[in-house]
Amino acid sequence: MSEQHTHRAAANESPYPPPPAVLDAVAEASTRINRYPEVYPTTLAEAIAAHHGVPVEQVAVGAGGAGLIQQMLHLVARGRRRGEALFAWRSFEGYPLIAEGMGVPVRRVPLRGHAHDLEAMAKAVRRRTKLVFLCSPNNPTGAAIRQDELDAFLARVPRRVFVVLDEVYRGFATDPATADGLRTLPAHPNLVVLRSFSKAYGLAGLRVGYAVGHSGPIAGLRAVTMPFLVPEVAQAAAIAALAAEPEYAARRREVAAERDRVLRALREAGVDAPPSEGNFVWLPLGERTDAFEAACRAEGLLVHAFPGEGARVTIGLPESNDLLLKVATGTAWSRP
Ligand SMILES: *Cc1c(COP(=O)(O)O)cnc(C)c1O
Repeated sequence: MSEQHTHRAAANESPYPPPPAVLDAVAEASTRINRYPEVYPTTLAEAIAAHHGVPVEQVAVGAGGAGLIQQMLHLVARGRRRGEALFAWRSFEGYPLIAEGMGVPVRRVPLRGHAHDLEAMAKAVRRRTKLVFLCSPNNPTGAAIRQDELDAFLARVPRRVFVVLDEVYRGFATDPATADGLRTLPAHPNLVVLRSFSKAYGLAGLRVGYAVGHSGPIAGLRAVTMPFLVPEVAQAAAIAALAAEPEYAARRREVAAERDRVLRALREAGVDAPPSEGNFVWLPLGERTDAFEAACRAEGLLVHAFPGEGARVTIGLPESNDLLLKVATGTAWSRP
């Protein structure tokens, strides 16, 4: 299978090329790459603030969602008493990976089924816990946190604990019960909502993400931002992407519709595939995961395998999704 016919379904990237307006903005900004960008990406922060209808003091910009996760962990790691970070497992691999690199101890609370066990997570918070990551919809299992669950969790967690609600896949959620971090913010000064241009706007290659929260934690995040962090090219693309919101919203709806089509077809074929609110589906194949990954690769479909647990497959264009169905609905993968 040649490179050209490979379908990339392993990293939850957007299958769509950037719209012309975004490419134009990049080309225009690229004429100034002999110059430094702004010391702090204020122009972009202002555009994000206007987009969400919040004051600019409530927006921090970073090098992707991952960059902001690192900055949050930085705030936890400093001070006389080093704190620990708590998160569900399995969830985003970046949480333990980045925490480990910074020497921040972590604690994992097992998922219940495929979803966050917020009861158990609230009970697991102890004196040393300074930061909780919640991922909704959860990568890689697809389950979203409901608004009532989030409200109950925040009511139980002490305000000295920062709660980061990682909503990088929120734009693909179609279940109306899904928690809405931005609407939840006003009542909770310890809540920080994480968003990214990588997934929702298909700009993974430019590394731009942002956090929205109360001005206290946001000032903390801004204080640990490297000077000149976000290139002007990346800022320009993100600003143009926000201006093209209707087009991106339509793309996200298409992806969500394809996701639901794939899930229906998988279930009809007897394949265990839990509901997903993200731009990916989760196949809990256990010991069959590696063989499934190899079968997909043989068809030119690259998926993300978690050996012994399952495979996460990004929803792409219909052609790539049909390839997934072709492999997954073979007899070997239906429920034993
Ligand atoms: C992809 C991802 C991120 C960060 O992505 P960036 O490309 O760094 O913006 C954060 N959280 C989750 C759950 C992700 O899947």
